[in-house]
Amino acid sequence: MPSVQDHLASIRADVEEIDVDQLNARLTSGDQLLIVDVRERDEMESGFLPGAKLLGRGHLEARIGGVAHNANDEVILYCAGGVRSAFAAYALQVMGYTDVKSLSGGYAKWVQSGYPIDNRRQLSRDQVARYSRHLTMPEVGEAGQIKLLDAKVLLVGAGGLGSPAALYLAAAGVGTLGIIDADVVDMSNLQRQLLHTEDRVGMAKVESAVAALKGINSEVRVVPYQMRLDSSNVLDLFAEYDIVVDGCDNFPTRYLVNDACYMLKKPNVHGSIFRFEGQVTVFKPDAGPCYRCLYPEPPPPGMAPSCAEAGVLGVLPGIVGVAQAIETVKLILGIGEPLVGRLLTFDALAMRFRALNTRKDADCPLCGDQPTVKELIDYEQFCAMPAFEI
Ligand SMILES: [Zn+2]
Repeated sequence: MPSVQDHLASIRADVEEIDVDQLNARLTSGDQLLIVDVRERDEMESGFLPGAKLLGRGHLEARIGGVAHNANDEVILYCAGGVRSAFAAYALQVMGYTDVKSLSGGYAKWVQSGYPIDNRRQLSRDQVARYSRHLTMPEVGEAGQIKLLDAKVLLVGAGGLGSPAALYLAAAGVGTLGIIDADVVDMSNLQRQLLHTEDRVGMAKVESAVAALKGINSEVRVVPYQMRLDSSNVLDLFAEYDIVVDGCDNFPTRYLVNDACYMLKKPNVHGSIFRFEGQVTVFKPDAGPCYRCLYPEPPPPGMAPSCAEAGVLGVLPGIVGVAQAIETVKLILGIGEPLVGRLLTFDALAMRFRALNTRKDADCPLCGDQPTVKELIDYEQFCAMPAFEI
């Protein structure tokens, strides 16, 4: 039985090595080199060679064809110290690659020599496994997943719309989810509010939401706010977040969320439901209209019954809340066409979606040419109705 040292010596005799000075000279001269990191994922977290492909050793043979398309492509492998990369280079030669080199001294020697590294944040091994379906999509990828993990989204309401939105945002890996809701779970909520369960009836909705979301993705930081949103607390709260998802069910809160988001220049992903119909849009300050552009005046009291009064199909908020979650993810990733300046309407009975173009109103008291609303007002008085349940 040959020793590991003997085996390594015989492999090194067959594998060409490149030293760190030669490699750095070639990189600085502008050579386009295929450099492959064969270390373990957690070793890559402290940094890696600029431009290196982070394939790791475990799947090297399976994945090398994705980056080295021809058997005679030059491939430079490195590991921490130069041993694993020598074995890996030998394995690629056995596969038929003819120009494989191993970096002698590996990453440690590279760092000691003071050569540049790339230390962009890497996903952990668990994150790579969890988000693998995102990582294979070029529109998301590792950089996009890191954006999701770094994002802070505040959900106004842990009810019909907030439930599906929060569940999907947590599953997708949005790193911080704030949830504000003053209510406790009631049996009548369970018909549509999937964050909550029978055994949590009577519990604060935000606490029930924490339990549900942690069960899906324990990595997400869920911040519960068991309180009513009002003019005195909204600005401080919204300032902590990147995006607000409005799933409230009353007009005073809707105008409050709109005005606060506009003042803080935060995107407001708005959703509403009524019986069999839903609406979704994105109010992005200065990029499109705000809620007041569309609805300058609240409806007269009694003319716009709440879901509690008029009813709502239990399944309907699933579609609307998930559409809000999709818009939120698009905003975080900066992809696609968000519903800015467009109002998506959904009619469940006809099973029909429509997207209506909406426009900023030059006379809007908030975002128009001559604004009159420059600070938060008393929204219950403005709407002549209480900000009842969310
Ligand atoms: Zn406006």
